[in-house]
Amino acid sequence: MKGEDIIMHVDMNSYFATVEQQANPLLRGKPVGVCAYLSPKGCIIAASQEAKKFGVRTGMRVSEAKKICPQIILLANDPDKYRFISRQIFSVLKKISDDVEVYSIDEAFIDLTGLAKDFNVAQAIAKKIKQTIRDEIGSYLTCSIGISHTRWLAKFASEENKPDGLTIITQQDLANIFKDRPLQHAWGIGRALECRLQLLGIENLYQLQHSSPSFLQTNLGWYGYYLWCHLNGIEVEGVDAQRNQLPKSIGHSYCLPKITNDKDYLVRIMSKLTWQAASRMRSLNLQTGKISCGYHNVAGQTLFRSWKLPRYLYDSVDIIKQALLLFTQPIISKINFLAVSLNDLVFRSGQLSFFTDEIKKSNLNKAIDTVNNKFGKFTLLPGSLINFREFPPDRIGFRKNIRYES
Ligand SMILES: [Mg+2]
Repeated sequence: MKGEDIIMHVDMNSYFATVEQQANPLLRGKPVGVCAYLSPKGCIIAASQEAKKFGVRTGMRVSEAKKICPQIILLANDPDKYRFISRQIFSVLKKISDDVEVYSIDEAFIDLTGLAKDFNVAQAIAKKIKQTIRDEIGSYLTCSIGISHTRWLAKFASEENKPDGLTIITQQDLANIFKDRPLQHAWGIGRALECRLQLLGIENLYQLQHSSPSFLQTNLGWYGYYLWCHLNGIEVEGVDAQRNQLPKSIGHSYCLPKITNDKDYLVRIMSKLTWQAASRMRSLNLQTGKISCGYHNVAGQTLFRSWKLPRYLYDSVDIIKQALLLFTQPIISKINFLAVSLNDLVFRSGQLSFFTDEIKKSNLNKAIDTVNNKFGKFTLLPGSLINFREFPPDRIGFRKNIRYES
C-alpha cells in the first residue's frame, strides 16, 4: 500500500441537463429532463437538479416524469453538445496533470501524487478546478469532487456530496465511513452481487470491510478480494491515463478461401466479420457512428465505402444491416478479401443507453456476449448464419494495414 498517494475523482452533476441549462439561460432554475425520445414512451436520460427534487430519475418514462412534475421541460438529447463541453472540461483537468484518466463522458480521475504534497493542497486544486470550469466553460456547470488515497475511494468520495461537493476520505476516516452503509452504496456492487454477499451473511459495507479477504476470495473469486482491498484503502488499479483512450476504429477482415462473386456467401462472411467487430466494440463499452466496408477483387481493384450511421449503434444486427448495404451494388468481379471497420467510436454511457425500446436490445446483446465469451464467439448467432461453417479468424483491425479512412 502506498498510503501517501493522492487521487482525485471529478464527476459533473446532472451533466446533460446542466449543459442544456448552461446553453439556454431560460432553462436555469427549472426542472428539465433530457430524453432519448420525446414521445410519452421515451425515457429520461438526465434530470436537472430541480427535476430531481420532484423525484424525476434517469430511466424514468416521459409519461411518468410528467405525472410527478407537470411543469418539467423536456428536451431531446444532443450528444454533440455534451461531447463538446466534455472536451473542454477534460482539457482543464489535463492542464493540471498529465495523469488524467477519462472515465466517462462526465467523469475523470487525476493522479495528484507528487503534485499535491497533502490533502490540503489537493483540496485547493479541487476548488481551483471548480472555479475554472465556472469561469471558463460555464457558470452553471458544477461538479462533485472526491479525494482519497486510492482510485476507488476517490470515486466513493465524489458520490458523497452532490451537487457541487468536495469530499476527502483519509486513511483514518476508513474506520467509520462504512458504518451502516448499504452494500449498494459501493461502486461495483449491484443488486446481483448484493444478493450474493447477503447469502454469505454480509449485510452492509462495514461488515464487508471487516470480512476475511480469503473468505471473500474463496466465495467470490478475485473480485471479492478486490472489493475487500477497495474498502480497506489498498490500491488495486491506480489511475491510468491510457486506460480509456478510445480506439479510432475496430475492424475485422478476411482473405477468402473461396474466390467468388456468390452474393449469398459474401453476405454471410460480411455478417460474421461485423458480428465479431460489434462484439469487440461492446466489450469496450463503445458504440459506433460510422461504418466502413469494402473488398479487393481478383482484378486487383479495391472498393471501400464509408458512411455515417443514422445514429450511434451498438446492436450487432443493426450494424450488420448497415454493413450489408455494401452489397446493394452489383458485384461484377470475383472477390478475394472482405473487410469492415467501425469508426467514430464513443462511450455508451449509462445515460445514453436508456433508449426506450433499446433496453431489451441492450439486455439481449449483453446476454449474447456473456454466452459467447464463455462458450466461443459463434455459440449464439443470427439464424441466417447457423449452418454457415466459415469462421473468419480473429485479427487486428485492417485499419493498421490499409489506410483508407479520412
Ligand atoms: Mg455525473
